[in-house]
Amino acid sequence: MSETIFSKILRREIPADIVYEDDDVLGFRDVNPQAPVHVLFIPKTPIATLNDLTPEHAALMGRLVLAATHFAKREGFDELGYRTVFNCNQHGGQTVFHIHLHLLAGRQLGWPPG
Ligand code: AMP
Repeated sequence: MSETIFSKILRREIPADIVYEDDDVLGFRDVNPQAPVHVLFIPKTPIATLNDLTPEHAALMGRLVLAATHFAKREGFDELGYRTVFNCNQHGGQTVFHIHLHLLAGRQLGWPPG
């Protein structure tokens, strides 16, 4: 898969506000936040889009979701709630082709999205 800006963040070649890390997942604040809390969780293994997932990625994707829920509990907004989003390709609004889970919190979020 081609290099993305998230690969550079993983290698600490460009700065990011890192708020979560474990063996498989890195979480950092979105540079253009859409809510008071907007964090991106990425697998350390680069996968371009949801379309590239195979059954072998099932555990890794589970760990990605668990990282976000762990962060929500740690930061104390789990009870009020939050939103998690994967964007995929053009109609999904994906701009960085390294799978990432958006976590948005800290305000009432509208539905449906625009
Ligand atoms: P998506 O549109 O789903 O591909 O989301 C990509 C997200 O990455 C956008 O919300 C951007 O604001 C965010 N983003 C792009 N570059 C950076 C960066 N260097 N640090 C943090 N977030 C970034």
